[in-house]
Amino acid sequence: TEACLSEIEGAARLNAFVRVTPEIALDQARAADARIAAGEAPAMCGMPLGIKDLFCTRGVPSQAASHILNGFRPEYESTVTQKLWDAGAVMLGKLNMDEFAMGSSNETSTYGNAVNPWKVDDRDLTPGGSSGGSAAAVAADLCLAATGTDTGGSIRQPAAFTGIVGIKPTYGRVSRWGIVAFASSLDQAGPMTRTVRDAAIMLGAMAGHDPKDSTSADIPVPDFEAALTGDIRGKTIGIPSEYRMAGMPAEIEALWSRGAEMLKDAGARIVDISLPHTRYALPAYYVIAPAEASSNLARYDGVRYGHRAKLAEGDGIVQMYEKTRAEGFGKEVQRRVMIGTYVLSAGFYDAYYNRARKVRALIKRDFDEVFAQGVDAILTPATPSAAFGLGEMQDADPVEMYLNDVFTVTVNLAGLPGIAVPAGLDAQGLPLGLQLIGRPWEEGDLLNTAQVLE
Ligand code: GLN
Repeated sequence: TEACLSEIEGAARLNAFVRVTPEIALDQARAADARIAAGEAPAMCGMPLGIKDLFCTRGVPSQAASHILNGFRPEYESTVTQKLWDAGAVMLGKLNMDEFAMGSSNETSTYGNAVNPWKVDDRDLTPGGSSGGSAAAVAADLCLAATGTDTGGSIRQPAAFTGIVGIKPTYGRVSRWGIVAFASSLDQAGPMTRTVRDAAIMLGAMAGHDPKDSTSADIPVPDFEAALTGDIRGKTIGIPSEYRMAGMPAEIEALWSRGAEMLKDAGARIVDISLPHTRYALPAYYVIAPAEASSNLARYDGVRYGHRAKLAEGDGIVQMYEKTRAEGFGKEVQRRVMIGTYVLSAGFYDAYYNRARKVRALIKRDFDEVFAQGVDAILTPATPSAAFGLGEMQDADPVEMYLNDVFTVTVNLAGLPGIAVPAGLDAQGLPLGLQLIGRPWEEGDLLNTAQVLE
């Protein structure tokens, strides 16, 4: 813990931690020592972690990297972080992210962007988003592991951009209670770690039924570490033709084929599959996610939490709402709220929101059919490119940024588990990731297959 705290101090340039909590960390570390001395050593005992700013941590500012939550200190602890502390883990502090987890580059944060520890010719690169601080911190060894959340790829894309492992569990595997909501039907928390084994151990500590989250599933949590047998003989791995997008860099194609070869060498059967509705996933996601976000973010009204704008003489409650939300939310969050309220509005509900929901059902059916044919996991690239330069997308059409999520959003729409594992380096020496998508509730199997690619 002390070593991590000093690494964090030395790595301020990365802007990964937005808040360091040394007193809490050292207290927890001492308590972990005592547990070990008493012969009791739970799974995460003494493991120093970083926590994404989206998780509410009791008494510690938890702002979802937004100005509107300025000074908000929750009086409660999220279920996931509580479970980690119960398992002996240590909190080093809170990690940078895109504001309300909306973004793919960490550039929408009120704290400014985190920086990827990987570099090309001294050019600063994005660590990805929205869990960019988590990815940067783990990749730079500032903590042993971190929590992330994934609504459309926010664990897997930053993991791929920084050469680490990140798993988004099956929807309902991990409690969402105490995690600031973005799009409730898509949000899941998961571990971001150096190795697949670490991910298995940490997921085991985070997962489990929680009566405080009505969407958390009452399904037993298996021993994910015990699932890491290394044996994938007889497994069937599907390669979806629709993910072979036009203009995909040749190096990504090559790594994808190499990944398939590795699985084949380990005894898996590789088959070509089709997920025909893939191309509608991104548009459906960028209707559903903003719709849910606009509803979830209605609570930031200047009354209940954080920031409230200074009012002028004669301003009423409507002006208070307007000024508070105009000052408190960044540009991307405002864009999402506007898109969301538009697609939910009476005149457009059927044309946009309802249609997106139907598309979502078709995307899920594509996966169901492939699994019913005996496919155990699906192998795809994690991202369409390696990490890009910070500021590079500043003036681009926002849709350019959304294209980053092309390989990841399908998994959230279908509620499936997905894992990103480092697959190798591109010609510039930057990490690229592969994604494996698994059957619902089969994270153990998925982790075991992923370990073959490590
Ligand atoms: N980049 C996607 C978005 O901006 C995904 C975000 C996430 O998974 N939280 O919505």
